Amino acid sequence: MSAALRPSPISATVDFDAQGVQHGFLKLPISIDTSAWGAVMIPITVVANGEGPTALLTGGNHGDEYEGITSLMKLASTLEAKDVRGRVIIVPMMNTPAAEAGKRTSSLDGGNLNRSFPGDPDGGPTSQIADYFSRVLVPMCDVALDLHSGGRTLDIVPFAAAHRLDDLDQEGASLAGAVAFGAPYAMMMFELDATKLYDTAVESQGKTFVTTELGGGGTSTPQSLAITDRGVRNFLIHYGLIEGELELPDQPLINVDMPDASCYVQSEHTGLLELTVSLGEMVEVGDVLARVYDMTRTGVPPVEYRAERDGVVIARRFPAKVGMGDTIAVVAEVVESLERDPAR
Ligand SMILES: [Zn+2]
Repeated sequence: MSAALRPSPISATVDFDAQGVQHGFLKLPISIDTSAWGAVMIPITVVANGEGPTALLTGGNHGDEYEGITSLMKLASTLEAKDVRGRVIIVPMMNTPAAEAGKRTSSLDGGNLNRSFPGDPDGGPTSQIADYFSRVLVPMCDVALDLHSGGRTLDIVPFAAAHRLDDLDQEGASLAGAVAFGAPYAMMMFELDATKLYDTAVESQGKTFVTTELGGGGTSTPQSLAITDRGVRNFLIHYGLIEGELELPDQPLINVDMPDASCYVQSEHTGLLELTVSLGEMVEVGDVLARVYDMTRTGVPPVEYRAERDGVVIARRFPAKVGMGDTIAVVAEVVESLERDPAR
């Protein structure tokens, strides 16, 4: 990051050094048709109590991923200072303009926040939010949890994930947090392009980082929210922010790895999608995952999409209409353990 960047235009109405519970806003100045001298108001809660680590909990990085938004709105309204050791910073809707619009991307500038890092104080609103996180909030934290799900276009099995990192201690600490989260799946995640992700911005500062995918379809369910609520609490217990016992699922944890881009099956056709496998189903290489029908005529056989590897279906396209380049399904490899093979 260049030292020449001006300070962020965002100001906080909370005092990050104060003790106790504060509810406030991150205020980003904007000037738009409906508000000439206005501000984007990003809700934030800070709960601090004495010495201890700082955890940064975020949702709404994408505005249509409601599991994290809902869970963090609940936590922000209920977490008490006496229950915390250290500091918990909660931002339920990082990209508030996107969340208000019920969309993945910002209604102000179309920005996808999780493709906007490290951000720019002189960029559009989305880039300015990214910059504030990169230079103000992330440096304050020791551990960070970012809650995603499939949004309107994907449905994803519930998992917490870490990434392969050059720093093996950092990778191990992050993976331990992903396992402690207690979702049905733990994942070593391969990103199609990690360059501009929040994940990369946090990890590049040496922080312990856990990301999640917890359902999707642009809604939430009692099941997905129960997993999210429990996972957030487990995360805080694991890293010493709150006291308590980890609550883990009854079923044994399924470890999944995404070694490379062949996990992603993407459409080369536009049409009507018929998924022939369900989330969580085991498949073998060559198995038919989906058929895509030409909607402009009858009498044409569908195009078949097949698994390019053995594994478990961990994500699927949610809407039944599919376009060129859309991810239809993701097949991840089931592994015994995600710990590094010491011989490697
Ligand atoms: Zn997301």
